[in-house]
Amino acid sequence: MISSHEIYLDNSATTQVGQKVAVKVCEMLTDNYGNPSSLHSKGFQAQKVLDETRIQIAQKLSVEDKEIFFTSGGTEANNLALIGTALKRRKMGNKIITSAIEHSSVLEACGYLESLGFEVVYLPVSEEGIVRVEDISNAIDNKTILVSLMYANNEIGTIQPVEKVHTLLKRKKSQAYFHIDAVQAFGKIPFKNTRLQADMISVSAHKIHAPKGVGAIYIKKGTNLIPRQFGGEQQRKIRPGTESTALIAGFGQAVQEMDYGYLLKMQHLNDYLRRQLIQMEDIHINSPENALPYIINFSVANIKSETMVHFLEEKAIYVSSGSACAKGKQSHVLRAMKLPKNLSDTAIRVSFSKYNTTEDIDRLVEALSQGIQTLAKMK
Ligand code: PLP
Repeated sequence: MISSHEIYLDNSATTQVGQKVAVKVCEMLTDNYGNPSSLHSKGFQAQKVLDETRIQIAQKLSVEDKEIFFTSGGTEANNLALIGTALKRRKMGNKIITSAIEHSSVLEACGYLESLGFEVVYLPVSEEGIVRVEDISNAIDNKTILVSLMYANNEIGTIQPVEKVHTLLKRKKSQAYFHIDAVQAFGKIPFKNTRLQADMISVSAHKIHAPKGVGAIYIKKGTNLIPRQFGGEQQRKIRPGTESTALIAGFGQAVQEMDYGYLLKMQHLNDYLRRQLIQMEDIHINSPENALPYIINFSVANIKSETMVHFLEEKAIYVSSGSACAKGKQSHVLRAMKLPKNLSDTAIRVSFSKYNTTEDIDRLVEALSQGIQTLAKMK
């Protein structure tokens, strides 16, 4: 467990593995260690856990368990969705629509597809960091084979208009598949695919208190794609390879523990921090108020993000500068929001989990004030 003096506020990067999840993983590693493809009972026992987890994830998304495939995480799920369907549908058209603020696992997969001759449209965002529905609509044409949009942005928490895409595609009589990167939304905001009507949805375990290295993709029955891996018969050859049973079991346990009731707590924590930040002179809040309450991004005048991250770290407070995947590079999300460079260079992302309390926020605010005084003096 996190030691009592540690304050972990970087939960969009990754979360602490829950106790029951860790026990489940351990149990699989040491007792239920069979290969799910084996024909004997050790294999059946392991297979049973995979089946159960598939059902648990499918129920949360309101889809069929047969439509869930395990991956090594969100990155692989996104790569499979984008590259797998683009390559398969090449003869139908070559246009892919996404946004400028997607996760690198979508953007770089798109870059790869561009190198193969696909046309990728990166939709801009408003100053609040939200894609405009009208821009999505205008971009869809008869060459479009895929629209890929994230549900909640990982840096600023903005919720994208994923609920509108299916209707747009239908209205335009488009053949395009619709993929949602729901890595930051799954387990945090309740959603059902009966409403969203996506063809593919990516989720990841380590954002919901399960281990890193496991995720899943929902692929609607009838969606055609070329696998990214070739090998055994597992997962109907869509994602072959011996399944990571222990990690998948941990994922299943975390899914069972998912509780949307925490959304209210997160809103309370977010409001509590926001109220205090507003009163601090040198702080500019970058996340709009209607963003996912789990994430709040703000800039601290004149103090580089990394400097502040390390100052807070010395006080055992862990936050992030922009996105953890971007490591020091200027944030493409804040740039797309047209945030001035001085604000994007000084951006801090605080992201909550069910384990955080208002006392954590008091400690953070106190440390931020100290940082502003001390670090500004050192300039
Ligand atoms: N998509 C989003 C929105 C993310 O935030 C992340 C991880 O931060 C990913 C995809 C990649 O997921 P994973 O770390 O499981 O590969």
